[in-house]
Amino acid sequence: MSKRRFDAVTIFPDYFAPLELSLIGKAKKAGLIDVGIKDLRGYVSDNHKTVDDTPYGGGAGMVMLPEPWGLAIDESAHQSDADIHDLIVLTPAGQRFTQGLAEKFLESEHIIFANGRYEGIDIRVTDFYRTQPNFRVHEVSIGDYVLGGGEVATLVIMEAIIRLIPGVIGNPDSLTEESHSLKNEDGSLVEYPNYTKPPVWRGLEVPEVLMSGNHRLINEWRHSQAVKRTEDLRRLTGE
Ligand code: SAM
Repeated sequence: MSKRRFDAVTIFPDYFAPLELSLIGKAKKAGLIDVGIKDLRGYVSDNHKTVDDTPYGGGAGMVMLPEPWGLAIDESAHQSDADIHDLIVLTPAGQRFTQGLAEKFLESEHIIFANGRYEGIDIRVTDFYRTQPNFRVHEVSIGDYVLGGGEVATLVIMEAIIRLIPGVIGNPDSLTEESHSLKNEDGSLVEYPNYTKPPVWRGLEVPEVLMSGNHRLINEWRHSQAVKRTEDLRRLTGE
């Protein structure tokens, strides 16, 4: 696979400043990924840089115009060498983002994130790109709540995908041992609890088994803790 490319279309390019930091910033500097941030207002020709209008049928709020989105998405596609472009439209009405989806998107050479604002984007943008043979369209939500815009959701999804790219995380073992990557017969597990120095902190001791040096016992203990934490979490969330 050639270098992965991520484009984000937004009316708030500054929201993406954190992409210069930490893991993603390092991955960019190391040349492991290309990232393009596109200002939607750069794709409108009127003096007021209008990107929204009132909804047909009435109702509260404004809806984002399809034409600037079409132009920005087309340009993003032209700037990539990929044959297939994954268009992720952020929406609270989308499929819930999970670690499994992050692993699926890792297979993509080019992802374009469409970050809505106001009441969202005219649905014909989604409908149009669904008909295009070189696009795969995904409506994705990061949870059952409503944000002011898709930018925060895009940062979440980008980080979850990019840290899986080989070479981004120093020790690849940390990827297989963490929450939602650990598996048992009932599905994915959350991670076991972690401890570091000192051995006693505010009266709380590190479990003896972790200091025993016996890796079989340590693995058994960690697995049982992961199962317990997963069960507690499922009880709490009712999932
Ligand atoms: N009217 C929309 C609805 O009820 O579904 C909500 C629009 S929201 C105020 C504006 C934008 O924020 C959306 O177009 C979407 O891009 C983004 N957004 C809001 N909540 C989100 C979520 N949970 N996951 C992903 N994106 C979200």
